[in-house]
Amino acid sequence: MTNQRILVIEDETNIQELLKYNLEKSGYKVTVMENGADGLEEAMENVPDLILLDLMLPGMDGLEVCKRLRMEKKTKKVPILMLTAKSEELDKILGLELGADDYITKPFSIKELTARIRATLRRIGEDKADAAAEMSAPALLKVKDIEIDCEKYEVRKSGEKLVLTLKEFELLKMLVENRGKVLTRDFLLDKIWGYDYVGETRTVDVHIRHLRQKISDEEGSGQIIETIRGVGYRLNNSGDR
Ligand code: CA
Repeated sequence: MTNQRILVIEDETNIQELLKYNLEKSGYKVTVMENGADGLEEAMENVPDLILLDLMLPGMDGLEVCKRLRMEKKTKKVPILMLTAKSEELDKILGLELGADDYITKPFSIKELTARIRATLRRIGEDKADAAAEMSAPALLKVKDIEIDCEKYEVRKSGEKLVLTLKEFELLKMLVENRGKVLTRDFLLDKIWGYDYVGETRTVDVHIRHLRQKISDEEGSGQIIETIRGVGYRLNNSGDR
């Protein structure tokens, strides 16, 4: 699909040009902003279909921009693909749970970047289509004292709302929907991140770790998500229902 709009927030001129040229060639409409404040303003005024956000920006950095985009109603759901300079930063960023949809490390290949953009946009499109189909699906999933409200994108534990990132929510939902089945890391990456993230399965592990911490309590609720060594994860439903 063409005519989708991508907002690039990046301060390096050569990368701006590289992105603009290649993305336009792929049929996207590209707007470039060179700092966080202008990028944020542009995103509010003309909500794009996807945002490519550089981490290191003068003034307001990419992390702050991402946080603010997620806080605003208009831009809350716009997919954000973050550009980071070093792969070592990735764990740190994942740990911050800013709600970016994906990350790519510089230097990146244009081919890989466009593949990820396409995957992200396709997944968003499918989500929208699924939303209609899901109207008939159960809106409320339960496991032990945890309730997953698929309509409000909310998770409650013993009635208390848990603060989960979108990815954590999707992971939990996927595990609960497939309770008792082992889901491989590759399967989860494909379903939740939307593509084959070869060698990046630790992304899943990091998110599972956070998810467990959030749902855990003295009775060890976090352990309902079992690690199947070398394979993936399973939601253990023993004692449930
Ligand atoms: Ca930069």
